[in-house]
Amino acid sequence: MIQLASPDIRDEDIACVVDVLKSGQLVQGERVSQLENAVGKYLETEHVLAASNGTATLHLALVALGIGPGDEVIIPALSYIATANVIELVGATPIFIDVDLRTFNIDVSKIEAAITPQTKAIMPVHEFGLPCDIRKICSIAERHKLFVIEDAACALGGKDGEKYAGTFGDFGSFSLHPRKAITSGEGGLMVCGNPELAEKISILRNHGVKLIDGKMSFVEAGFNYRLTEMQAAMVYSQLKRINETLERKSRLAEIYFEEITSEAIAQPHVPAGKTHTWQTFHTLIAPSIDRDNLITALREHGIGTNYGAQCLPSQAFYQRKYDLNSEAAFPNALNCFQQGLALPLYEKLTGKDIAYIAKTISKLTS
Ligand SMILES: *Cc1c(COP(=O)(O)O)cnc(C)c1O
Repeated sequence: MIQLASPDIRDEDIACVVDVLKSGQLVQGERVSQLENAVGKYLETEHVLAASNGTATLHLALVALGIGPGDEVIIPALSYIATANVIELVGATPIFIDVDLRTFNIDVSKIEAAITPQTKAIMPVHEFGLPCDIRKICSIAERHKLFVIEDAACALGGKDGEKYAGTFGDFGSFSLHPRKAITSGEGGLMVCGNPELAEKISILRNHGVKLIDGKMSFVEAGFNYRLTEMQAAMVYSQLKRINETLERKSRLAEIYFEEITSEAIAQPHVPAGKTHTWQTFHTLIAPSIDRDNLITALREHGIGTNYGAQCLPSQAFYQRKYDLNSEAAFPNALNCFQQGLALPLYEKLTGKDIAYIAKTISKLTS
């Protein structure tokens, strides 16, 4: 059976974790600082903070900005549910925008019409690892004095031009979940260019504690969103080969492009100048084909697939609370939720595996 996703944890990564376990220093120590510095260097930016997962990092960004009840945050209608949940967690209101069907990213042309006096931030997602039109989003935000929080959960190493996804906005948030390129099981990283906000985040993630003259002072009602030293060590180890990982995934994606021949499958589009991380190879299946039956048929051929992302406003909680008509307002996000299909793409797969998947899915849909 070819799984949809499978992390590539090597002996050297495991050895790093064992070293930490023997050291006795298990939480928020040297390894976390070492990881933060290395990620900052990799992304050519400063102020990187590690946290317990990629939802905690988004939550920390909203709390640090003081976003709460009465405030609105603009997000794409298609994403992983956490993008919307964190806005609810701070008591603010998510404002959904439909996505572009070719890139699966937020349709930038629809953002300005959704801005109201209550809007505080735009939280774009680099969906499936493809950088969205982040430069345009930042200029809209600047014009309307809004914050930009990039949900770059899937986009570590993705670029728009020569600049890394996650380094354009006020905050950039990355996930280290096993479905992402490098992983610590659970884990998150965030970029924050503003040193005062970065300090606030480092206080909030650790029970609100600040060291004043060497003494602990609890200056905020903070969270425990720390990363462990074991997690930091295994991610640091994987970070050393991230370019190799991303190059390999990109080569495997090329094989899909060459080998998928069915006209019933729309392949992902990568606009010029963008570097995709291929966290997900997301296709769109023609309406004439029942996507869920296709998932079952693929499983019978030993291939694990699934839908790629949720249409957020149509999920039970959001449907109940906001009662939005996704069919009318977010047809593209709904289409992706109903007809989207994520194909296996990870380091351990071979070119032969990818060709087999591509041929099988082409045969089943032609
Ligand atoms: C994975 C993911 C998250 C959540 O990350 P966790 O580390 O699992 O909390 C948030 N947003 C998007 C777009 C994701 O893909």
